[in-house]
Amino acid sequence: MITRLSSYFVRTLREDPADAELPSHKLLVRAGYIRRVAPGIYSWLPLGLRVLAKVEQIVREEMDAIGAQEVRFPALLPREPYEATGRWTEYGPNLFRLQDRKQADYLLGPTHEEMFTLMVKDLYSSYKDLPLALYQIQTKYRDEARPRAGLLRGREFVMKDSYSFDIDDAGLEAAYARHRGAYIRIFDRLGLEYVIVQATSGAMGGSASEEFLAVSPNGEDTFVRSPGGYAANVEAVVRPLAEPVDASDVPAAHVEDTPDSPTIESLVALSNQRFPRPDRPWQASDTLKNVIFMLCYPDGTRRPLAIGLPGDRDVDLKRLEAAVAPAEVEPFGDADFEAYPALVKGYIGPAALGLGEAAGGESPAGQVRYLTDPAVVAGTRWITGANQPGHHVYDLVCGRDFSSDGVLDVAELRDGDPSPDGSGPLSLARGIEMGHIFQLGRKYAEALGLKVLDVNGKLVTVTMGSYGVGVSRAVAAVAESTHDELGLAWPRQLAPFDVQIVATGKDEAVFSAAEELAGQLSAAGIDVLLDDRKASPGVKFADAELLGMPTTVVVGRGLVDGLVEVRDRASGERADVPVAQAAAFVTAVVRG
Ligand code: ATP
Ligand code: MG
Repeated sequence: MITRLSSYFVRTLREDPADAELPSHKLLVRAGYIRRVAPGIYSWLPLGLRVLAKVEQIVREEMDAIGAQEVRFPALLPREPYEATGRWTEYGPNLFRLQDRKQADYLLGPTHEEMFTLMVKDLYSSYKDLPLALYQIQTKYRDEARPRAGLLRGREFVMKDSYSFDIDDAGLEAAYARHRGAYIRIFDRLGLEYVIVQATSGAMGGSASEEFLAVSPNGEDTFVRSPGGYAANVEAVVRPLAEPVDASDVPAAHVEDTPDSPTIESLVALSNQRFPRPDRPWQASDTLKNVIFMLCYPDGTRRPLAIGLPGDRDVDLKRLEAAVAPAEVEPFGDADFEAYPALVKGYIGPAALGLGEAAGGESPAGQVRYLTDPAVVAGTRWITGANQPGHHVYDLVCGRDFSSDGVLDVAELRDGDPSPDGSGPLSLARGIEMGHIFQLGRKYAEALGLKVLDVNGKLVTVTMGSYGVGVSRAVAAVAESTHDELGLAWPRQLAPFDVQIVATGKDEAVFSAAEELAGQLSAAGIDVLLDDRKASPGVKFADAELLGMPTTVVVGRGLVDGLVEVRDRASGERADVPVAQAAAFVTAVVRG
């Protein structure tokens, strides 16, 4: 097929869109692949749709290859199944809810566990029907708090979601392993550099779970790796509790006057000046920092949470969000401090924190739930807030002088921190979540009553797996990892066209030679984009680089000498080829 740029529905832009920060977002808009309709909502133009279709096809082939069968559910769904599993509420503000003319509640599907479970329940009744794996490639809706980076985090996006159904745990593990293999092949074929990391299962529930992250400095996820092979999303890292310490020689706790020391830095400086230690200077890690957040639960309740952690660490918001999901995290504002007068901003200490006996609710004194870092264990000794302006307490010993309501590991991790499994120092990097596989277990089957008869004629609950690939996100992630300063640079397997032919100059002979070459390539089964526009060579070259087809053929000045120029977009390599051999040469390049 020959597609002529003179009539193709594409307009390239010289300016970056004002709302775009990441290169993939800027370039996909500038090169005429997508157009923004509303925050996190995009239209696909012909070029973009071709890339999306290629990603879909790769995903489809690999899902078919493991025996999964394609179906398609509606995006517009009734409330009842989501009510039965609790997700109508649990999804909170992320769910697009709407009503029909009879005021019946509906939603736009954010993911489809409920619908697949019910469909299988409808049609299957015996262990003989299992194992089963079903998938769809379909539009999902999530009212994301922070739609970002164009297709990377949309509010409407395309996902491949699949679900496995098995009679027992061994079956589920095998189904999970098959999906894992398929995902490896999918992300290899997409050409992404990725890591497989341990993950949390978020709003889904369930147990074993891994994510496929495309390694990218612009990714929203942070993961850690160790030389010994540990790899995890920071959200899923659980550091072991520190060893208890003998504190029998620590003096009794004493409150000191520490004016103007509301920050850790000022507190350490002042402590070294006024209360120097004999053995070594005070450090930030000797202080216990107590940070308060407001947790907002899906049912609308708001409850504060205090987190105590060593003063040299900050709370990692993403780790915290993952740990408290489905609650959302908000800052503890001035109005909140007014509502909790026992909390003295900048000088909060354990004495004002913790529910203790009142666990499960707030005590009359306005106590708030208090969770501490795994480093805060029995015998550790701290400088921390004394709950009076300008005062701190010294030699406050965990277990002796205070306790918390439990452990919460949400501190920021650092390069060099020990791996939780003892496999060496961690290093941190960022990635884009491309896929997520997990063993759901029986949560959905139980909630919706999906049971089949087993070999003994006994009804048993089916166990399920759930597996997602971000299909539209993949378009952006590949653009993010392959572009250069000139524009997009698609890998061959995803490019909208195999070849872009650029005819330059005013000479009729040039245009007819370009047409002829396009015809020959097209006859060989190659997808050709022919730039037959009456525009300057500079404009045409710049557009070819911006659009990013893997091979460009320039038919122009060289033609008088019987030559065309073949350019490789990714490497920049150029070769002059006799026009008579051009079709064969380009065909060989395209076929690899
Ligand atoms: P994230 O942590 O990025 O919000 P998630 O864990 O909520 O993603 P899943 O429910 O696991 O996502 O969805 C499966 C896949 O769908 C993800 O791995 C990701 O590739 C893709 N995806 C999820 N949310 C979005 C979105 N808002 N826009 C585009 N793709 C998305
Ligand atoms: Mg996920």
